Amino acid sequence: MEPSVASSPRAVLERLSEKLGCRPTSKELAAELDQQDELKHLRQQFLLPKVADLPPSDLSLVDGSQECVYFVGNSLGLQPKSTEKYLKEELKKWAKMGIHGHTEGRRPWAWAEETIEKLMANIVGAKPEEVALMNGLTVNLHLLLLSFYKPTATRHKILMEDKAFPSDHYAVESQIRLQGHDPKESMLCLSPRPGEDTLRPEDILEVIEKQGDCIAVVMFSGVQYYTGQLFDMEAITRAGHKKGCYVGFDCAHAAGNAELKLHDWGVDFACWCSYKYVNSGAGGLAGAFIHEKHAESVRPALLGWWGHDIKTRFHMSNVMELQPGVNGYRLSNQPILLVCPLQASLEIFNMTSMQALRRKSMLLTGYLEYLIQHYYTRNPHRPDKPHVTILTPKDPQQRGCQLSLSFSVPIGRVFHELERRGVACDMREPSVLRVAPVPLYNSFVDVHRFVELLGESLAASQK
Ligand SMILES: *Cc1c(COP(=O)(O)O)cnc(C)c1O
Repeated sequence: MEPSVASSPRAVLERLSEKLGCRPTSKELAAELDQQDELKHLRQQFLLPKVADLPPSDLSLVDGSQECVYFVGNSLGLQPKSTEKYLKEELKKWAKMGIHGHTEGRRPWAWAEETIEKLMANIVGAKPEEVALMNGLTVNLHLLLLSFYKPTATRHKILMEDKAFPSDHYAVESQIRLQGHDPKESMLCLSPRPGEDTLRPEDILEVIEKQGDCIAVVMFSGVQYYTGQLFDMEAITRAGHKKGCYVGFDCAHAAGNAELKLHDWGVDFACWCSYKYVNSGAGGLAGAFIHEKHAESVRPALLGWWGHDIKTRFHMSNVMELQPGVNGYRLSNQPILLVCPLQASLEIFNMTSMQALRRKSMLLTGYLEYLIQHYYTRNPHRPDKPHVTILTPKDPQQRGCQLSLSFSVPIGRVFHELERRGVACDMREPSVLRVAPVPLYNSFVDVHRFVELLGESLAASQK
């Protein structure tokens, strides 16, 4: 892949199609882009559902034996092929040696997650000791806020984006109440300017600058789940620290999607789930990050035996020897059956780098954007022809792989027609479709096929 990709996907596409002597919209270009893709072999590491196996598929419209167009890895990543093998190993170990599995085999259950934390740390740009794999995302968000949200009479607000993911909204709301404050006064939810879909980076920084003295915690998402906007986490962290706030991020849509440098940026805390871009399966083991600068100073509010130093954990002395940093936040022993699928996926990430994935991602999503704009930009001469507006920022540095498409026609029937044709994506009523070409396993031909099927679906839905 050429180094200029990051600057302009459009230029790369036009240059390559010229070289091939085809139109930029031709399928030939997609095939050539796949040919040149240095990461194309990674798709082989995953199980891609066949069209015939997706419940809404209509086999009178499409060939059921082909792989579906899976553009919903932002909700649930695909299953790595080695998942089943790893799970079977542990089930077999349990069957054969029972309790001895805690200390034997490839993944001794008592410290199984430790073997994969380094791999996870690489994905989020952290040191291994800054990361704990445990619980679910919302649980981790609560545990972190219990330590980092210490409101005072003057500094009691939590700043987050308006229309944050519901679980984050509820978590923040309930944490504020738990501390005896009123969400109406302490929850500061930032909306885009009237008529705009995404937040301007400078508006976020300005609110922090102006209201920072009353903000206890800045708690943004890394990538906004609905719009696909990637926030400048480094700048937000710097701005928050300047005003004396703690800064944390929910990286559910950013982990495995964007290049994160949680350590270098000095982020105070972060959490994420692993079943979206990190492919660990529904309800998979979640991540938590606490920067090493807080290893001795910020303490967990709630304790469990797994936060105890492993060397003496099983002496059962009932005198806590707390592990420093995020490791002290562990409560329970690990669910080994959740460690297995996560390990399977992290090993695939380890075959490449977030940098390489991002490079492909920018071109892949840029290609999708190019085709959508080509076919569905509003035509002033034919304003009633269905058209599409992209809510996600145009700048590749301000988005991950997802595009949120807003349609000029109601989306329900279009979505239904897409599903009948073997496309898996996500609809938000009344008019938004979220599509996520994932660089780990999606191809340029997937993107081309999606746009073709979108054309058919729009036509069918207008009948
Ligand atoms: C997916 C997602 C969640 C889901 O929370 P769980 O605790 O894993 O069920 C929460 N917040 C955000 C921002 C998400 O994207």
